Amino acid sequence: MTGTRVLVLNSGSSSLKYQLLDMRDSSRLAAGLVERIGEQTSRLKHTPLAAGGDAREADGPIADHDAALKAVAQELARDGLGLDSPDLAAIGHRVVHGGMFFTEPTVIDDAVIAEIERLIPVAPLHNPANLTGIRTARALRPDLPQVAVFDTAFHTTMPESAARYAIDPRIADRHRIRRYGFHGTSHAYVSRATAELLGKAPEDVNVIVLHLGNGASASAVRGGRCVDTSMGLTPLEGLVMGTRSGDLDPAVIFHLARVGGMSMDEIDTLLNKRSGLFGLCGDNDMREIRRRIDEGDEAAALAFDIYVHRLKKYIGAYYAVLGTVDAVAFTAGVGENAAPVREAAVAGLEGLGLAVDPGRNAVRGDRPRIVSPDAARVAVAVVPTDEELEIATQTYALVGKNT
Ligand code: AMP
Repeated sequence: MTGTRVLVLNSGSSSLKYQLLDMRDSSRLAAGLVERIGEQTSRLKHTPLAAGGDAREADGPIADHDAALKAVAQELARDGLGLDSPDLAAIGHRVVHGGMFFTEPTVIDDAVIAEIERLIPVAPLHNPANLTGIRTARALRPDLPQVAVFDTAFHTTMPESAARYAIDPRIADRHRIRRYGFHGTSHAYVSRATAELLGKAPEDVNVIVLHLGNGASASAVRGGRCVDTSMGLTPLEGLVMGTRSGDLDPAVIFHLARVGGMSMDEIDTLLNKRSGLFGLCGDNDMREIRRRIDEGDEAAALAFDIYVHRLKKYIGAYYAVLGTVDAVAFTAGVGENAAPVREAAVAGLEGLGLAVDPGRNAVRGDRPRIVSPDAARVAVAVVPTDEELEIATQTYALVGKNT
């Protein structure tokens, strides 16, 4: 392997996010996003981080992912970072669902693509979009190693007691129903970075990771291995999220269908897109919710309380799963930025050794930091996640091993 650069691609149904990293020092050379692919109003936003200078934006129709990646390649070439460069060592793809089959990052070949395709029934929204990105990138650079990094992989270490639902295993197995978990790349990165923050090896610490973004999930990580996580067959289970309900009695669905007369698709949309913070108060941005609370808005205050109550329940549950806890790590948009959420989530948990120091918790920053008092038994930490760096690191390590 000669090159040291890795291109990370995160391909959605109508978007393509990318970052180009130099793995000699993990620095970011360029980053960007193509939005509304397939529409008349597509937009490419490219930030030439290494070259400096302002972000460049281009509006106008971009027909498909192939055209999107070619437009990205052109922007990179303008910065002297073209995808035909021998400095490019590999392309790393985020793939949402790897089922039970993919427990590690995997070099992509036709058999891997076929297996990701086979998982489409359990990830109907995400895997087809991820596959489009993979096919497009392979067509552009067929000679280059491409690696799939799976959102589910970190959770494949969960014991059966945590991974299985309490339903007939024959039915579960026939339909591949089990708890897979998601955001695994982030949980892996943050649990390791938290151990580093504590000055310990990942094998020596137990961490509860709270990934609180627009999607949100918690995980219990024992000695570097995931033993439980809050998302399940799909990302709908678990915490209250921006637009997803998280946990609810499954009978709510029967009730909405039988008594409410709603179709399955309508219920799916309700629970995934119109619930959570948004469903409760009409806003899914925590900044806006806090602003409304400050103005005395009751719906926003109740949404916040429901969000925090669920979060606290999961902290308690994962404390019990782990037995001893060294750190609780907050990450992603809400976890990294919303001090009131961190404060409220651990309020009253002093008996478990959990507390935040109000002064430390209020300080903003983009470095990993501890926000609990020095004397606290359990560290409460804010650890910014970096999924792109984790995908690039895993990709580069795998390609280096294979050459
Ligand atoms: P993510 O999915 O990790 O990008 O997180 C996005 C969410 O983070 C947004 O919907 C907001 O709710 C939240 N967020 C971002 N910045 C802030 C901030 N400064 N304060 C509070 N919440 C924030």
